[in-house]
Amino acid sequence: MQKGFRCLMWGGALSAPPEKNHEWSIKPWWGEFRDRDHERAFLGQHATLVAGQLQLALLVWAVLLLIFAIPDYLALGASADFYKLLMMRLFSVAIILGLFIAVGVNSLLAIKGRWISLVEVVAITLFMLVYLYRPDIVSWTITVSLLMILGVLALVPNRLMTAVPVAFYMAVLTAAVLMYLGRLDPREFIGLLVVFCLPIGIGWAGALRANVLQRKQFALFQQSQQLNTELIREIEMRKRLQEQLQHQATTDALTGLNNRHQYEHLFAHELSRSLRQQQPMSLAIIDLDHFKQVNDTWGHSAGDEVLRKVAQLCRDNFREVDILGRLGGEEFVVMLPDTALEQAIAVGQRFIDKLAATPIDIGSQQIQVTATMGVITRQANETSLEGLIKRADEALYKGKAAGRNRVMPG
Ligand code: GH3
Ligand code: MG
Ligand code: MG
Repeated sequence: MQKGFRCLMWGGALSAPPEKNHEWSIKPWWGEFRDRDHERAFLGQHATLVAGQLQLALLVWAVLLLIFAIPDYLALGASADFYKLLMMRLFSVAIILGLFIAVGVNSLLAIKGRWISLVEVVAITLFMLVYLYRPDIVSWTITVSLLMILGVLALVPNRLMTAVPVAFYMAVLTAAVLMYLGRLDPREFIGLLVVFCLPIGIGWAGALRANVLQRKQFALFQQSQQLNTELIREIEMRKRLQEQLQHQATTDALTGLNNRHQYEHLFAHELSRSLRQQQPMSLAIIDLDHFKQVNDTWGHSAGDEVLRKVAQLCRDNFREVDILGRLGGEEFVVMLPDTALEQAIAVGQRFIDKLAATPIDIGSQQIQVTATMGVITRQANETSLEGLIKRADEALYKGKAAGRNRVMPG
């Protein structure tokens, strides 16, 4: 009860930012869940999408690498330097396409981060050859590297933990090449690195924001799923509890038959239907013979077992429509709708005979019990349930007096 209520109340947590919830907290620099299992679940769920994005990024990268062979050719002609650069381009394209294929085969590679970064490091390093062999475009270097840094962070789907170091590597390498070419002195080298921090910072911040937003959404979704599951479980538990309570409130604990409250309710309903439709209706009371002796001889729990077995025998012998109840002690009551007295006597006799012929197991022993039944039928315009039961009880009394183990009509 309490727990379910808490669940519903906690529904308010759905609107609370997930990072406030420690379980779903996100690393502030890398935009990943602190909890490794959560991060793995998130990445796993996005693997196919990320793989698709990565393949597209790799394809664009390969195409750009190839397209820029044209300006190389225009600048260098069919020279040795051009072919060296072309080899570099083809080699880079080969490893990029290698990763493209690998990611297509196994999308999980796309979310690991290190493979993409490794390919980036190799391709970026090779790319620096362009600056060495094409002194004519050295003035473009900073702009190109700047765009590549932004691309590495913003366009290539990758884990920030590995993408940021790659971006720094690119910045350092570019500055180092420029210094090697004599375009920078050490002070300018440091200055350029500081300038490169800008695109790195912007790319980092943008990617971080996207990472955090995606994870917040994921956390909210997971939390609402979790709440739903708990709620469903709670509802099912309550339903079961309600059924149990309903069962307890309507059945007799020992025999499983209708208890007094329940059979009186069902009898009243049948009685009014019988009156309304002018149909016959009979009622019988069954009382076990000398039951006190059973208790005295075999013990009270053996007596209980007999009561359970007799109740089962009642269920097996009477019709589905007949309403059975435990009147109290070792007495049972049964209402037979749409049944005239002769029919009820026949049905009753069948039961009494069956009981007498059925040995009852009580542990290792078997005992024989009999019962007496008083049976009556509703008289025209008889409306009192109490009256019907009283008449059946009187018939039963007569049956006992007449020697027991019999059906006595009243
Ligand atoms: P009769 O043939 O006249 O009906 O004799 P009887 O012994 O069956 O009648 P009586 O009413 O004197 O005794 C009924 C006994 O049923 C008394 C009581 O110990 C026993 N009894 C009533 N309720 C239970 C019960 O829930 N479990 C058990 N084991 N015995 C019960
Ligand atoms: Mg009795
Ligand atoms: Mg009895």
